[in-house]
Amino acid sequence: MAAINEVIDLSVEDGVAVITSNHQPVNALSAIVRDGLTAAFEQAFGDPAVQAIVLTCAGRTFFAGADISEFGKPPKGASLHALFDRIEGADKPVVAAIHGTSLGGGFETALVCHYRIAVPSAKVGLPEVKLGLLPGAGGTQRLPRIVGAAKALEMMTGGAPVGAKAGLAMGLVDELVPEGENLRAAGIAFAKRVLAEKRPLRKIRTMSVAGGSPELFAEFRKANAKAFRGFEAPEAIIQCVEAAATLPFDEGQAAERRLFMGLVQGVQSQAQRYMFFSERAAAKIDGLPEGTAVRPVKKVGIIGAGTMGGGIAMNFLNRGIPVTIVETQQAALDRGVATIRKNYENTAAKGRMTQDDVEKRMGLLTPTLDLNALADVDLVIEAVFENMAIKKELFAKLDAIVKPGAVLASNTSYLDVNEIASATKRPQDVVGMHFFSPANVMKLLEVVRGAKTAPDVLATAMEVGKQIGKVAVVAGVCHGFIGNRMLAQRQAQANALILEGALPWDVDRVAFDFGWPMGPFQMSDLAGLDIGWSKETSKGATIRERLCEQDRRGQKTGAGFYDYDAKRNRSNSALVEKLILDFAAEKGIQRRQIDDQEILERLVYPMINEGAKILSEGIAQRASDIDVVWIYGYGWPVYRGGPMFYADTVGAAKVVAALQKHAPRLGEGFAIAPLLRELAQAGKRFTG
Ligand code: NAD
Repeated sequence: MAAINEVIDLSVEDGVAVITSNHQPVNALSAIVRDGLTAAFEQAFGDPAVQAIVLTCAGRTFFAGADISEFGKPPKGASLHALFDRIEGADKPVVAAIHGTSLGGGFETALVCHYRIAVPSAKVGLPEVKLGLLPGAGGTQRLPRIVGAAKALEMMTGGAPVGAKAGLAMGLVDELVPEGENLRAAGIAFAKRVLAEKRPLRKIRTMSVAGGSPELFAEFRKANAKAFRGFEAPEAIIQCVEAAATLPFDEGQAAERRLFMGLVQGVQSQAQRYMFFSERAAAKIDGLPEGTAVRPVKKVGIIGAGTMGGGIAMNFLNRGIPVTIVETQQAALDRGVATIRKNYENTAAKGRMTQDDVEKRMGLLTPTLDLNALADVDLVIEAVFENMAIKKELFAKLDAIVKPGAVLASNTSYLDVNEIASATKRPQDVVGMHFFSPANVMKLLEVVRGAKTAPDVLATAMEVGKQIGKVAVVAGVCHGFIGNRMLAQRQAQANALILEGALPWDVDRVAFDFGWPMGPFQMSDLAGLDIGWSKETSKGATIRERLCEQDRRGQKTGAGFYDYDAKRNRSNSALVEKLILDFAAEKGIQRRQIDDQEILERLVYPMINEGAKILSEGIAQRASDIDVVWIYGYGWPVYRGGPMFYADTVGAAKVVAALQKHAPRLGEGFAIAPLLRELAQAGKRFTG
């Protein structure tokens, strides 16, 4: 083999040139790869001894995609577009031999080749939408020419890859190479067959698009309006496929180029690329000794089979990890187990799980009323009532029961993990594992590092999170940790706004338009207004208490801040409006007109301010961790990149100015975070 450069090799065997990329870890199409490929193809095209070319990759995968670290930077290296034009326009057949995951630019590279062969385990797809982009190297023009407009829309706006077998059925792959067979040799053999049979060069650009009627696009937009709300990339992709269906290839590609440039320079894609890196960065724990080993977790104990305990248990059962779940009352235990079963049965009814899968999972669950049954588990997660005395009593008992070396975790939402740990003689083994509701669905896990939490216990909690498919973020001890501490700021402002002049539906509309799935009052109605409320102690001191006193306790009672019909459709409530106006009058509050801009600034900027404090206090390791918490735990719109990234797009100076303007209304003791002030003065950002 002859090296073209550090990462690209070229060899010729029996008249077939094999061009191999070896750019670890995933053969990203970095400048050095594009340079090498350009030179290698020129050499192969110019060599009269070469009749056909096979393009393949060493290592674990065919080109996995573009090098996203190059996005938004000044261009360098050979142009991918020029290389693609050369390959597709060649007069010698080019065969892509695919293994691993050929995604994005990687799959677009395969699409300019005249033929594609793949091992059955290979996956192909165009997931650029997940980074707020579109497949901008001709992907939007070529994919519909193979699979038709409808399938192409679905694949590119959804971003999910397809397996090689499905790819074969759809025409994305021409032939499967049995697993274990030498892919390079199979590529050479395939190329020779193409030559021997004198097969024509298959240039996708010359094909036409099936099924691209105006009705298809209109229906697709309508059917997906909810899922695509706020995102720019899906609409740009639809426009590209429309162009593919109606324009000659070169004009379609020009449209694709224009739309791609708009996206790549826009805030949404920057935000989504930032989140891609932020999610990976969250797994890194500051100050952890290199090579800290994690404790094995093969058996889990969960205490409390309520809303959270049941959901948490499902995460482990889904991964085949046995769970012992403990309650104090048989009825509560039965109810909890029945809920878990019902969730699985529902999934099975939708065809997303077999009945066998349901039974397998339920078979791994041991319900009990005996805490002693946790003696031999490797990890305990406590999810009982949010009450310090109860939790401390429980941890003291656990200390006496559970084997040494087990990790003792609490799912507390707000409480001091250090105090909980102090109830044991092994505070080094205690950690917070804060899940989000519904715990079997929500991706976020806040791992709360106590003052005495041992490094390997912290690492174990993070690793467990990863194993059960969560995005784990380290938080320090404070009231509400990262997420709920910031949420309290938003809630306080929402409550203040409805007294000062706005109505719940005004606040919720602004929050929804910003991109949250629902506003604070809709969220309260969903969760139930009576969390922590009791009839006996209620003093009618807040709007919420007054609603509860009228048995308007949220969706479950058919009324809360809103009225609900039998199908839980919401409508604004004249009664609630009057209740709010009366309450304000009683408190001597002069109501005024509040515009949407003020609502938005007051919902979001105090959160940013709190985020800055959380960062300065070391509660969060890095600004991007705060953003990960908000994206995965609270439905913050990913295209705005989380509160700290959003602050950077607004500019710290503007945030400070608005907070100063609103300060008299932001509550007693409100203070602008010194870090936020510093950034504003220096014109700096929270995120890199
Ligand atoms: P829940 O009331 O639905 O469930 C608590 C369960 O614990 C009940 O079934 C109760 O019978 C049981 N229990 C109480 N004391 C017990 C004991 N000593 N031994 C065994 N079982 C006992 O409450 P939840 O919403 O699941 O919340 C549980 C914990 O999770 C709380 O600390 C809460 O702050 C936290 N949390 C809740 C949410 C949420 O959205 N609900 C989110 C994150 C964290």
